[in-house]
Amino acid sequence: MCPDDSIRPQAAACPIDHLVIVGNGMAGQRLVEGLVRRDGAPRRITLIGEEPCPAYNRILLSPLLAGEMEREALTLRDADWYAAHGVELVLGERVEVIDRQARRVITDAGRELGYDRLVLATGSRPAMPPIPGLELDGVHAFRDLDDAAALVDCSRARGDGRAVVIGGGLLGLEAAEGLRKRGMRVSVVQRDARLMNRQLDATAAGLLEDELASRGLEIITGGRLDRLEADDDGHVTGARLADGRLLPADCLVVAIGIAPNAELGRTAGLEVDRAVVVDAHLTSSDPAIHALGECCQFEGSTYGLVEPIWRQVEVLTAHLAGESSDGYVEAPTATKLKVSGVSLYAFGSIEADDDHEVLTYHDPDHGDYRRLLLRDGRLEGAVLYGDTAAGPWYFEQSLAGRDLSACRQALLFGASDATPLLDDPTSTTPNPTMKSPLQEEAA
Ligand SMILES: Cc1cc2nc3c(=O)[nH]c(=O)nc-3n(C[C@H](O)[C@H](O)[C@H](O)COP(=O)(O)OP(=O)(O)OC[C@H]3O[C@@H](n4cnc5c(N)ncnc54)[C@H](O)[C@@H]3O)c2cc1C
Repeated sequence: MCPDDSIRPQAAACPIDHLVIVGNGMAGQRLVEGLVRRDGAPRRITLIGEEPCPAYNRILLSPLLAGEMEREALTLRDADWYAAHGVELVLGERVEVIDRQARRVITDAGRELGYDRLVLATGSRPAMPPIPGLELDGVHAFRDLDDAAALVDCSRARGDGRAVVIGGGLLGLEAAEGLRKRGMRVSVVQRDARLMNRQLDATAAGLLEDELASRGLEIITGGRLDRLEADDDGHVTGARLADGRLLPADCLVVAIGIAPNAELGRTAGLEVDRAVVVDAHLTSSDPAIHALGECCQFEGSTYGLVEPIWRQVEVLTAHLAGESSDGYVEAPTATKLKVSGVSLYAFGSIEADDDHEVLTYHDPDHGDYRRLLLRDGRLEGAVLYGDTAAGPWYFEQSLAGRDLSACRQALLFGASDATPLLDDPTSTTPNPTMKSPLQEEAA
């Protein structure tokens, strides 16, 4: 039964009686947000979250850690909002069992809830390296509010103490910069030869490294963590690298990647690979169970950024409300780094093959760098550092698969220079500002 029909009127034909969503994170919350606006929404919605507070904007944990934002600003909707929209919110309970035969879930508090349709939105957890010492006091991940609070406490307790961050990707760098802004001396250990190696080419990664080093971060690329060292009280004191170096640490953050929370689905006998396998309507191998967000896998891909997850939410919202939709389609995702004063934007491939044309622009004086990867005139990847204003326009062109040959000459200068040539394909006038410091290279 819908708890409050006067608030959420039902469509004439309502296919789902009780929808249970496991995970009150960014995907689960957005799904509810979409459903309560739909006429065809399930009559009853229950949202179960393991964290003790209503969903918050996880992305903003980085500015929270950096002291640029208050905790309250992260809350997406307070508990009253769910009540006012007839959504039953169960917080601080972890779903431990899915009984598919009986169509019910059981939480760690012993609560049993029947469902007609179930959505898994359990996200992921931090991946951990296979080294001894991870259980030590002072070793943290950077995934939730508790982690952020523990890191803030550490920076307060240790004053100008030392922190080591393992991982030089988006999350590791945002954690490192947050701790530095709180007064800690921070070393970043990146296993690859360059920072953000999945998004940036060597030049952009070098510019980023120089910028972060100039702020006081110690960046160690090509570094391999061997083990953690501790004092007699079991508190971490340092990170020992494979080359023998010891990096002193009052606290250590592990940010080497994520692992989808797919165990619930696996134990229930759903098809699970790296994550819960879903089709284009986010339906798992059981037609009564869906999965979305970081815990799902579609056509071999898993997820770690919200952009594709928002598109999944749209598809599943329509599906659960009995509306038709084209289904989820995989598309490239653009990346930004949330470090104040650093502007970078990247999407698509970084590695050029023989059929790629590579256009690059580098203005060291202004710290601007752009590199575009084209195949048959179509943009397949871009890396922008410094002036990133053109990034979203490049991304749009890439998603549209637009042939940009007509504006190739002006492409590196962004939309305002390139679009007139696209609109007038007979024009071949090269942009006069294109001379130095433009370089073009064949792949
Ligand atoms: C510090 C940080 C910064 C980020 N910055 C960006 C960014 O700039 N841009 C970007 O696109 N993405 C960013 N991300 C990634 C983004 O936050 C995630 O992609 C997004 O939160 C995934 O949503 P989700 O709902 O799948 O998972 P989550 O938001 O993690 O939600 C999953 C929820 O399910 C709960 N749960 C798990 N298992 C159970 C269970 N068995 N029972 C009940 N509840 C359960 C978890 O406790 C959690 O609350 C960032 C992530 C972090 C940690």
